[in-house]
Amino acid sequence: MADPAFPRPLRRRRLAILLAALAAVTALASWGAYFWAEAEARAALILNGDQRLGLYASSIRNAVGRYDYLPFLMARDHEVLDLLNAPSDLRRDAVNRRLETANAAAGSAALYVVDRSGLALASSNWADPAQSFVGHTYDFRPYFRQAVEAGSGRYFGIGVTTGLPGFFLSHAVRLGERLIGVAVVKIDLEPLQRDWAAGGERVLVTDENGIVFLSSHADWKYRALRPLPDAVKARLALTRQYDRSDPTPLGLHDAPVAENGARRISLPDPLSPGARRAYLMQELSLPEFGWTIRFLSELEPVKAQAAGAAVLTAMGILLLVAALALGWQRRQTLRLQREARVTLERRVEERTAELVTANRVLREAQEELVQAGKLAALGQMSAALAHEINQPLAAIRTFVASTRLLAERGETAMVRDNLAMIGDLAERMSMLSGHLKEFARKGPARVEAVPVARAMDRALSLLVPRLREEEVRVEQAIPPDARVRGDAVRLEQVFVNLLRNAADAMAGCEDRRLTLTAARNAGGWEIRIRDTGTGIAEAHQFQLFDPFFTTKEVGQGLGLGLSLSYGIVRDFGGMLRAENNVDGGACFVIQLPDA
Ligand code: ADP
Repeated sequence: MADPAFPRPLRRRRLAILLAALAAVTALASWGAYFWAEAEARAALILNGDQRLGLYASSIRNAVGRYDYLPFLMARDHEVLDLLNAPSDLRRDAVNRRLETANAAAGSAALYVVDRSGLALASSNWADPAQSFVGHTYDFRPYFRQAVEAGSGRYFGIGVTTGLPGFFLSHAVRLGERLIGVAVVKIDLEPLQRDWAAGGERVLVTDENGIVFLSSHADWKYRALRPLPDAVKARLALTRQYDRSDPTPLGLHDAPVAENGARRISLPDPLSPGARRAYLMQELSLPEFGWTIRFLSELEPVKAQAAGAAVLTAMGILLLVAALALGWQRRQTLRLQREARVTLERRVEERTAELVTANRVLREAQEELVQAGKLAALGQMSAALAHEINQPLAAIRTFVASTRLLAERGETAMVRDNLAMIGDLAERMSMLSGHLKEFARKGPARVEAVPVARAMDRALSLLVPRLREEEVRVEQAIPPDARVRGDAVRLEQVFVNLLRNAADAMAGCEDRRLTLTAARNAGGWEIRIRDTGTGIAEAHQFQLFDPFFTTKEVGQGLGLGLSLSYGIVRDFGGMLRAENNVDGGACFVIQLPDA
């Protein structure tokens, strides 16, 4: 589509600018969509993380809270008090069994009592020599110290005897004001972690030193988020909290800025060594335990979602632009088509108007010509008619006058002669009007098979007196089977006209000879009437067949004979033409269809 307002290079430049702008807009929108979608997805992730953290916190609180009262109850149990106050084998036995039953009923990991020096006197697992706490000293464990110093304690650690992790709740046992021992319950938190792991989520709980002790992922457990200071390491060695002094760091890298309590971090990817995985980390502290729950969300889906949004946006923009371009092109095409149609319609209207004008001019010219021709023909005809009629009229008048005289004198014989002469003259005038009537006639009367030789004989017989008088030799060679389509009377009339013209042309010539022939050809029959007369002057060649064309004296010819004959032959579906003979004279050729 050529836009005449913009030459080609300009249009190309305009297109380049348009494409660049489109690319820029698409890139910008995609970029915006990416960040918007990422922010949305991250907000959703954070919301989910907050909810999960709340859930985990309450699950921990529930797990611990269920056993909270146990050490308190044990510290008030008379048998426990008795044992701690005055230990004996009998009392120890009784307390052992009592603790064993209570532990089974409560579902805790272990119940035990230690005396004020930290020595375990009785325990729920007394019956299992490999596991039994009885006889072991736990004075170095923080929960013992906390109970001694503050009345109660809580502590997470790996059992020094069993090697199994657990949460320890302790309560001081007092007789009056006197501290006589500590009652302890050990709670197994492993089932809690198993639930977390089954949920497929990433959760870890750290203590006040940043050491992971509960986690949905076993390989993160007992590892420090960050490298530990030496003091902490020394304390760990002392308390044997995790049964090792130097937990290996997790290798966590975190971004300094947190948004809505969430922080981007990365951890070494366990599946591909050397690589790191990005997470969003949210935290919730449990102040009553001094712990922090951390929830990790994978960032890959967020990025994928954002990238999807960016691609969708780009595609949307490109589709929109494509649709707009298509619409524009369609409108442009329609506009061009409309313009072309309008132009075409206007041209057609112009041409039509021109044609109408030309037609009118032609018709006017034609009418003028016809009028002029009519006038000329009328002029010629009236001159000829006046002459033709005046002569016999004058003669008739003279004859009438002389006849009147002769009648008065009673010369009857001469009157009869005169009347015969008047009759002849009248006859001649009627013939003249007959000619004119014939000229006005249109179309063939009827069409029949006409034997050419017979029609020619009849025509000759009409002219015999004249031909004989003028000593014209007639040579006729028309085959008897020459039959043409036409009307016998009218064909005879044509022959009479042509024969009479030939006689006229030969009037002043030495040699007077008429040759009449007919020969078969492709179109039918060719009839020739050949004379030895004056021939046709070159100047007259094209006028011969015009009505009223004559070279004869006024009164000798009307100039209608050839014109009439031409019309008759044409009516029969034939042709009439004239030519000059090489040895002088003219030849009229009639071509007629075979009958
Ligand atoms: P008219 O005989 O009344 O003049 P025609 O139409 O028959 O009218 O002939 C027209 C003219 O054609 C004649 O005046 C004559 O000049 C010319 N013409 C016709 N026949 C012959 C002929 N055989 N030889 C020479 N001239 C001819």
